[in-house]
Amino acid sequence: MKTDQDTFLYALSSNNAWAGYKAHQNPDFFPKLASGQSPPILWLGCSDSRCPETTILGLQPGDVFVHRNIANIISPTDINTSAVIEYAVVHLKVKHVVLCGHTACGGAAASLADTRVGGVLDTWLTPLKAVRAANQEALDAIRDSQARIARIAELNVEAGVKVLMANWTIQEAVRERGLEVHGVLFDIATGRIRDLGFGTKPGGGAGAAGEEVRGRHAQLVFRGSNASMAAK
Ligand SMILES: [Zn+2]
Repeated sequence: MKTDQDTFLYALSSNNAWAGYKAHQNPDFFPKLASGQSPPILWLGCSDSRCPETTILGLQPGDVFVHRNIANIISPTDINTSAVIEYAVVHLKVKHVVLCGHTACGGAAASLADTRVGGVLDTWLTPLKAVRAANQEALDAIRDSQARIARIAELNVEAGVKVLMANWTIQEAVRERGLEVHGVLFDIATGRIRDLGFGTKPGGGAGAAGEEVRGRHAQLVFRGSNASMAAK
């Protein structure tokens, strides 16, 4: 069993090995990264350690601009989320905004429980509690607790995408340059991301033809998008 200090030292040495490997593989990699960023994707996701966006997308540093918070809650008055959206959409001109929920989300589970988490966490989870209240009957009908958690995570993404679509910055970019907004769910047990069909290209969703976000020889292809983005 590693001590905490060992874990930190291991992480640092792992970084050193990674940086050496990347530089060896491509000597231009870090100098190019240092010269600036133009990520095509803004990712809004959960802080959960099992959902590291760049890793699960199979992408690289420089590919994804990120905001993550507990249970990927999108509140219109949250200045943190709003500032990230503003910078990514207006200044970096991302092509896609992806809101991602996930299975086995602790925040989603907490919102389904009738106990108080404590501190500021209950306040933070209030929008998710509202999603629960609005869908109480349908959620109660789901017997399996993990399926219920996954379902409220989906409903949370649906609610979050609605907030995103009502955001002026996003609306203008959708109208003026075809910005796309996607709502997806990451299944931790399989590693797959499923397009829920919310956003600028509604409909489809689970199992629809044209599918999802699918790795294809290191190419990232969003359903319904003409512009596929080659992963570096
Ligand atoms: Zn989560």
